[in-house]
Amino acid sequence: MRIARFTTGDEPLFGIVTGDLDEYGQPDPDAQIVALAGDPIYAGINPLDQTHRLADVRLLAPVIPRSKVVAIGKNYADHVVEMGGATGELPPEPLMFLKPNTSVIGPGDPIVYPRQSENVHFEGELAIVIGRICKDVPVERAADVIYGWTIANDVTARDLQKSDGQWSRAKGFDTFCPLGPWIETELTLDEVKAGLRVQTFLEGEVKQDGNTRDLIFDVPTIIAHVSAAMTLLPGDVILTGTPAGVGPMEPGQEVEISIERLGALTNPVKK
Ligand code: MG
Repeated sequence: MRIARFTTGDEPLFGIVTGDLDEYGQPDPDAQIVALAGDPIYAGINPLDQTHRLADVRLLAPVIPRSKVVAIGKNYADHVVEMGGATGELPPEPLMFLKPNTSVIGPGDPIVYPRQSENVHFEGELAIVIGRICKDVPVERAADVIYGWTIANDVTARDLQKSDGQWSRAKGFDTFCPLGPWIETELTLDEVKAGLRVQTFLEGEVKQDGNTRDLIFDVPTIIAHVSAAMTLLPGDVILTGTPAGVGPMEPGQEVEISIERLGALTNPVKK
């Protein structure tokens, strides 16, 4: 099931997106969205008698994390190398940081280039949406706390990441966490482990072409590690790291991240 959040100009609603995706992760032109009562993470699936053509609504971020977006850095070996590390310098355990929930935007919303930076990068990532309150989740129980999966862009001011010495500002600007286009609830941990292609396109040109089978720390290990430190709440989001190929985006360009089975998340960049 694909759960989106959308507006037709009025109050945002959640809805179920029908139809199949094409080979580029784009929905069927006739796809529809069936509106739901309330937030399905808390209220379950309660369809309203209200259906729209998907093409007629504006999609919003499919989740607004109430407490936090947790992110994992250096979780693909080829990205560690491109950032200046050696393969012998892979992190011994998941490297965790936070992005504020105020950095979240939805599909089509502009990533705003901050005046403090001259080098803003895309990082395409698989994102986990947490479904229940949890702490100290054992690896073998990870599936129980996952509500679904979406696509994230861990936008990063690379110059500030270096000059600040830590990452809060560089990864925390407003608009630096595009999420969407919806939450897929039917993907399994086995499918993620077997491998989903993760690609980032800038102005239609492929820049990142990775695969979730190459995650250094797999999703159950990430959930166990994060929840050993902090309580996770329903709607919290965990970004799993980016493969090689990160690079700069310029105002006026468009960035698209596509992940197999999930679809594609597209955002313009503006000054
Ligand atoms: Mg990242």
